[in-house]
Amino acid sequence: MSTIAENIAKVGARIREAAQASQRDCASIGLLAVSKTKPAGALRQAHAAGLRDFGENYLQEALEKQAELGDLELTWHFIGPIQSNKTRAIAEHFAWVHSVDRLKIAERLSAQRPPQLPPLNVCLQVNVSGEASKSGCAPEQLPALAEAVARLPHLRLRGLMCIPEPTDDPTAQRAAFARVRQLQEGLGLDLDTLSMGMSHDLEAAITEGATWVRIGTALFGARDYGQP
Ligand SMILES: *Cc1c(COP(=O)(O)O)cnc(C)c1O
Repeated sequence: MSTIAENIAKVGARIREAAQASQRDCASIGLLAVSKTKPAGALRQAHAAGLRDFGENYLQEALEKQAELGDLELTWHFIGPIQSNKTRAIAEHFAWVHSVDRLKIAERLSAQRPPQLPPLNVCLQVNVSGEASKSGCAPEQLPALAEAVARLPHLRLRGLMCIPEPTDDPTAQRAAFARVRQLQEGLGLDLDTLSMGMSHDLEAAITEGATWVRIGTALFGARDYGQP
């Protein structure tokens, strides 16, 4: 059994190698620890080993861990599907939201962001897998969505996020990530973030410009949804 600290070292080495291979500065690539279904103790271990950014998909679960870990300085990222009735708590308790895919949700997050907090960092989730995915905005709708979100006062639009259809073929992995990078470039906005790459495809994502890789399994082991 490998410990979380050992796993972090291994993932760090993968990130550095991928960055080197594509002549990127690995300081430009953030490691977002995806901790859904994992107990607060696992996050505490990851923090002790140097991680500061944590991604959660389920609001209630995230709020419980935030309360348990209130003594640590962590940066919380919301990365799951967003229902309208959850936007207020998300706007209040997170620094980043990676999974915005419609204007109504963005408007609510902006309106509900407490004014004493810095603007909420937002990525737009784009669906590059067509029918295979229900989440994410269609590429054709992205320019209008991005322009509207960029104008909202309490949000800071940082870039795009994607979850491509899983595949073990590195060429197909790269093609999906390249598409997202090109979509971002095509927007002509001042954006600095590409949230892409998970445990099985972080190398391809880094090759195509990822600035956040979102890693769960490779850090914390497989998830058991039967026993939350
Ligand atoms: C669960 C999840 C991840 C992490 O996936 P792994 O394959 O376990 O690394 C990344 N991003 C999102 C949006 C997720 O829901």
